[in-house]
Amino acid sequence: MSRVLVIGCGGVANVAIRKCCMLPEVFTELCIASRTKSKCDALAAELKDKTATRITTAQVDADRVEELIALIQSYQPDLVMNIALPYQDLTIMDACLACKVNYMDTANYEPEDTDDPEWRKVYDKRCKEQGFSAYFDYSWQWAYREKFEQAGLTALLGCGFDPGVTQAYCAYAKKHVFDEIDTIDILDCNGGDHGYAFATNFNPEVNLREVSAPGSYWENGHWVEIPAMSIKREYDFDQVGPKDMYLLHHEEIESLAKNIPEVKRIRFFMTFGQSYLTHMKCLENVGMLSTTPIRFEGREIVPIKFLKALLPDPASLGPRTHGKTNIGCIFTGRKDGKEKTYYIYNVCDHQACYREVASQAISYTTGVPAMCGALMMLTGKWTTPGVHTVEEFDPDPFLAALDQYGLPKSESHNPALIP
Ligand code: NDP
Repeated sequence: MSRVLVIGCGGVANVAIRKCCMLPEVFTELCIASRTKSKCDALAAELKDKTATRITTAQVDADRVEELIALIQSYQPDLVMNIALPYQDLTIMDACLACKVNYMDTANYEPEDTDDPEWRKVYDKRCKEQGFSAYFDYSWQWAYREKFEQAGLTALLGCGFDPGVTQAYCAYAKKHVFDEIDTIDILDCNGGDHGYAFATNFNPEVNLREVSAPGSYWENGHWVEIPAMSIKREYDFDQVGPKDMYLLHHEEIESLAKNIPEVKRIRFFMTFGQSYLTHMKCLENVGMLSTTPIRFEGREIVPIKFLKALLPDPASLGPRTHGKTNIGCIFTGRKDGKEKTYYIYNVCDHQACYREVASQAISYTTGVPAMCGALMMLTGKWTTPGVHTVEEFDPDPFLAALDQYGLPKSESHNPALIP
């Protein structure tokens, strides 16, 4: 029995909410709250006769702590699932602390306005201290650790697939497969085709900012930063086939480097087709990825927001996306004194996701882990007070839930390694 407040009603939230509604014995009552209430109402109306979960809806601007506090106080949830955008992580955490409610999200904080001079000063200092220059990093949310601990509350960060399941895979490898892990390569392959020349699979603004940033990886205790898309490898993915992939900075590298300190190298690769890369480079070169407002015909517009309005809505890609995703981790290390390699991954079919929850596999592979993370928190399996990432918790019940609710793992004890 629980009351859960979900904030956001986009592609990922749609999947998470539909999956929660398949477990009404745990998710007894759900409030869907977002900026555009009509989207929440439409989803609630669609699910009304299909679930025993009692659904209500609300309008909220999650950039405003006072509005969030008023909503949380009136709904009195056991858990707030933040499935809005990374820009809202801190305001929602503040409201959860003020109302003494547990918190979870699917992506770490990044500011919306990266040109704000005050933020820029903090960012420049942090880049020098930390050795990588992504706009997103855990320092903002880790700064809440003591406050959550003292309040006896749990904040679960980044419980999608990557970040999220990939860290559970690391915890699983550490618990069951290795005595010592030497290297981790996280591989995110989308072998799907939506038929558009250019579209992003999740929020275009967040996606394009992530992909156009410098890449970085963790090696021998420090970050190595590289120009965007400058390290390319090819990998032959199970059920997808050979794909080009590129090294990116990714948030779970940061927490894994802290939580599995013996690891010598952690890298993250994502596959991209040539058409995506060519379009992105062109958009970047003409200034369309900029977050700095410009004056256009008497009004102010932010180029990347204007671009978002032109691009297909990721939530609309479901019916037209065919093919599979393959996301997982390859490890090297030692067990009982012997060298060992291991690959754990999930393969997910875009059309199968669409038939089940009317979504493509990118939203599915994020929304299902979000539901499973909430399940861990609500059923008392992941309750340590403080601010935690997925690898800090017992991976076994989480991976069992993923197996059961749509994202089963595959394993190989002799995978091809990445040079
Ligand atoms: P969408 O853009 O589809 O949805 C975002 C939702 O948040 C929309 O409903 C939007 O409302 C709402 N929202 C935005 N700003 C506010 C606000 N100020 N107040 C209230 N609601 C707001 O994004 P996705 O569903 O694709 O992504 C959701 C999250 O999942 C993101 O944080 C993304 O980074 C993360 N993600 C994580 C992955 C992982 O593997 N860990 C992979 C993919 C995504 P409106 O309808 O009005 O725009």
